[in-house]
Amino acid sequence: GDAAPGDVALAETLQDGARRRGFMLILSSPSGAGKTTLTRMLLQTKELDLTLSISVTTRLRRSSEVDGIHYSFISRKKFEAMRDGGELLEWAEVHGNCYGTPREPVDKVLAEGRDVLFDIDYQGAQQVRQKTGADVVTIFILPPSMKELRARLERRAEDPPDVIAKRLENARNEIRRWTQYDYVLVNSDLQSTFRELTAIVTAERSRAVRSTQAIGAFVESLLQQD
Ligand code: 5GP
Repeated sequence: GDAAPGDVALAETLQDGARRRGFMLILSSPSGAGKTTLTRMLLQTKELDLTLSISVTTRLRRSSEVDGIHYSFISRKKFEAMRDGGELLEWAEVHGNCYGTPREPVDKVLAEGRDVLFDIDYQGAQQVRQKTGADVVTIFILPPSMKELRARLERRAEDPPDVIAKRLENARNEIRRWTQYDYVLVNSDLQSTFRELTAIVTAERSRAVRSTQAIGAFVESLLQQD
């Protein structure tokens, strides 16, 4: 039947100002643990409505990468100007290159009540947590074995052997950082890890603290019904 006047009002409150605040979902892992594939799967799941934060980097573009989609590839001079101008929410040097998260696009998406996905390392995760406080959820993805990690890096075959060696060496250091994360997943099977990730996003969205206003409005309208 027709919606009661109360239902319409509720739908409106839930639509406007009373929306849940957006949160920041940070995915970290040593390179080769499958994070890039999992990020893509998350973004392709339209119902999740996640927006990727596109980092700036001084690293050279891989042949499979598109400027402005995977990263914005910039010079070191431009990077330093952005960093010194306070335009970066966080930044770090990884494997000898600089990476950083432009602040403005993140603020904009969060203000719309939508969630932002970050593919950044432990140094970045730490800075975002320190600077922004509570609305951060961090997930660390581990490879099932070092053998598998090496195999994935070699299969990718986009980096020269010395770069692969450096990434493997760094992986050990990164893996030790697991304790600072909210969730730790072992990526033995892509589909199960993906299911775990979507479960985390769904659960985090229901956290009352993020939805105080929206839930408050809903409860008020519930209590007005007979
Ligand atoms: P890659 O060169 O393989 O694309 O990335 C190397 C590492 O840098 C990955 O662990 C990735 O998560 C991290 N990274 C990428 N963008 C950023 C960023 O903006 N900030 C930080 N702190 N790390 C980043």
